[in-house]
Amino acid sequence: MASEKLAINGGQPAITPVAKRALKPWPLPDARTAERLKQVYLSGHWSFNGPCEQEFSRKFAAYCGARHGIFMVNGTVTLESALHALGVKAGDEVIVPGNTWIATAMAPVYLGAKPVIVDVEPDTLCLDPEQTRRAITRKTKAIIPVHLFGSMADMDRFAALSRETGIPVIEDCAHAQGGVWKGRGLGSIGQVGSFSFQQSKTLSSGEGGICLTNDDELADRLYRIKHIGYGTGQKQGQAASGPATGLLCRNYRGLEFNAVILTEALRRLKAQTAQRDANARYLAGLLRDVPGIALQARGRRADVQGYYMLALLVDPQALKPGCTLQEIKAALAAEGLPCGGGYGPVYRHLLWNLPASAYRLHSRAVVEETSTRRLLTVSHTWLLTGRPMMKAMARAIRKVMSAYCK
Ligand SMILES: *Cc1c(COP(=O)(O)O)cnc(C)c1O
Repeated sequence: MASEKLAINGGQPAITPVAKRALKPWPLPDARTAERLKQVYLSGHWSFNGPCEQEFSRKFAAYCGARHGIFMVNGTVTLESALHALGVKAGDEVIVPGNTWIATAMAPVYLGAKPVIVDVEPDTLCLDPEQTRRAITRKTKAIIPVHLFGSMADMDRFAALSRETGIPVIEDCAHAQGGVWKGRGLGSIGQVGSFSFQQSKTLSSGEGGICLTNDDELADRLYRIKHIGYGTGQKQGQAASGPATGLLCRNYRGLEFNAVILTEALRRLKAQTAQRDANARYLAGLLRDVPGIALQARGRRADVQGYYMLALLVDPQALKPGCTLQEIKAALAAEGLPCGGGYGPVYRHLLWNLPASAYRLHSRAVVEETSTRRLLTVSHTWLLTGRPMMKAMARAIRKVMSAYCK
């Protein structure tokens, strides 16, 4: 088959600069939020479990179908606090996937515990339940599946594993705002759900995080941990009761400004999630007969999937001899579709500086193979456009893969 001349070889790019005007910056500011921010500023009430924090915590927990929401300053301390509230301490082990942002794997380290790095499923790229089972030891005190890029760890199997072993599960939902697994909001299924609202996330206030839980006792501990020991609803300077002896409490409070931005953004989350999900499904259909590439599998029981990234998986076996992921990436960029490479193995991240004794590598074959030879990622903002953009993306991908496949 005669293929079109690739842009990297001087041909016309499949996605023109004009078509790319449909891409909007993220996050997108709006006037109503600006007005509410001004009101919060003028009120002089900026922290200490104020009305905006209470409103957002209640609304977000309800959105996800959880009883309690404990708002915090970011999605790293939410993970740490979740482990802490569950009693994880020095010497314990916590199972995490090998391909995630370093926050997931660092959370146990902050408590003196050891992350145990476990492999992921080759289709969803989320923590593998079977490998997790094999990695469990007497020291394992928690499991943190990450709903990577918005796809979903198999929560049926992790819930069953948790029931069987008594080991609690913390869902890292930093990528999965608005995702629904078999009728249940992500973050409401494990003992704790941890979310990040950092700048790039699909619900964002620059910084921010929340822990969700259905357990009243855990909720109380989480609240005390983040608010220097105060119980829920206790006014500053008027503690009704102190924290349990030995529970180390911190100041991880979020601001009223962040909470008000998030409350406004939450009003748009459902429609945005639906738009990204519909576009991703449409694109998956357009790519069905393109050789050597497919989208990361959706959550196996996803009713709605929240996309943080659109992840593409190349099949190295389908490529012409000697052709690499880097060449495909360069060719796609020339066609107008710049791709990232995901995180790579967490234990090789530039910022990962733990000595080998501080963590344990259990299994990693899929993590290694996907990050070096298979994975390409595209920002979720591409999914906030329309079908013409999906068609242009499919054209670019088809053009490149037709040229590089056998
Ligand atoms: C963003 C992120 C977090 C939390 O990060 P913060 O920047 O601290 O809010 C945790 N886990 C994953 C997988 C993330 O991508």
